[in-house]
Amino acid sequence: MNATQLVTVLGSTGSIGESTLDVIARHPDRYGVYALSAHNRIDALAIQCERTGAKIAIVPDEAARARFNEVWPSRVRKPEIRVGAKALTETAAEAESQIVMAAIVGAAGLPSALAAAHAGKRILLANKEALVAAGHLFMNAVHASGAELLPIDSEHNAIFQCLPHRSGTQGSNLASAGVRRLILTASGGPFRKSSIEELAHVTPAQACAHPNWSMGRKISVDSATMANKGLEVIEAHWLFGMAADQINVVIHPQSIVHSMVEYEDGSVIAQLGQPDMRTPIAYGLGFPERIQSGVSALDLVAHGRLDFEAPNFRKFECLQLAFSALKAGQAACVVLNAANEVAVAAFLEEGLRYIDIPTIISESLNWLESHTEASLNSLDDILALDREARLTAMKLVKRALVR
Ligand code: NAD
Ligand code: MG
Repeated sequence: MNATQLVTVLGSTGSIGESTLDVIARHPDRYGVYALSAHNRIDALAIQCERTGAKIAIVPDEAARARFNEVWPSRVRKPEIRVGAKALTETAAEAESQIVMAAIVGAAGLPSALAAAHAGKRILLANKEALVAAGHLFMNAVHASGAELLPIDSEHNAIFQCLPHRSGTQGSNLASAGVRRLILTASGGPFRKSSIEELAHVTPAQACAHPNWSMGRKISVDSATMANKGLEVIEAHWLFGMAADQINVVIHPQSIVHSMVEYEDGSVIAQLGQPDMRTPIAYGLGFPERIQSGVSALDLVAHGRLDFEAPNFRKFECLQLAFSALKAGQAACVVLNAANEVAVAAFLEEGLRYIDIPTIISESLNWLESHTEASLNSLDDILALDREARLTAMKLVKRALVR
């Protein structure tokens, strides 16, 4: 048995963050916590730090630091408190922890995930937006540093488990391993059976009520629009080096088959399990060993049946837009992701109509076409385009709100 490995959990108060701490707590002999971070819910962060004995707590600003201090129980030794986005990237790269869980939501998680990649960590990547916005840069950093990238998104974790395990599989040419296609499963979300007309009146509460998975609000809306599956197609492209037309999406409402790999000889290998993120998290922590996750056994007889159907690209326009963005290139992927984040936030908080989400994305992509060619060779280039795309999407949202 190796000595205890210290884990940094970026975004520890979120859905993935909490599941990660749950798995870690089951293995006190194997894992300890080095650093935890949160952007809000500072009280919850303080409780997590107390429970895990984290050495570092990262908060967004001085007000959050003050709140952390206020709620911290005086008899317990306080962690070092670090403040701001720079603290996230610096801590992600520190030698003290070997494993970094990247579980911040949105492109806000990109700089810290990239810092972990440059520093050669074992990266448990939940933050799919990092790969969508900066796939090329991210994979280059992984390869240059020798970082170990373990996909946590359930579909990509499933695909990873279904691939032949040789060193350097990720990002290399899977055709030489006889892989023909990747088949991503999608639950179809809460509106799988709704008509296009019914979608006009969808509320945030309805969009966030996912039938199978309990997740943060942004990814829940993304699952409803299937923008999530679109982001995952782009994520799969970068992780596994497959072209857009070698990545298929199939609706599987039970969320038991988490994804599949099709080989040249006609074999299709699937990974099955309960829809509980602790399974891929435990896989990422323990790899190549299997460790307890707390997830109950899958009872296929109780489920009885597994269904599959083709996605309706007309109803789930966001999915189609993601395929188009992947074919168009990195700049389109940056814009797709930024516009989606802005549109989803406006839907959740400002009353933007649900059906305007794909419109904001497609109009933002139109804006990019008339924009001068952006060179995207560095993190700064990507963040600059991301900022511009957000401003554009915000203007489009404003216009849609007064319509
Ligand atoms: P969440 O909203 O529950 O949690 C997000 C975490 O990020 C919180 O700790 C929050 O404080 C922090 N955060 C938010 N904004 C931030 C900012 N600007 N700067 C720094 N920290 C910030 O989200 P989640 O559902 O846990 O998802 C996290 C990531 O994992 C997302 O990229 C999501 O797509 C991906 N993912 C989630 C699931 C799931 O089941 N929840 C499954 C697959 C992939
Ligand atoms: Mg997923």
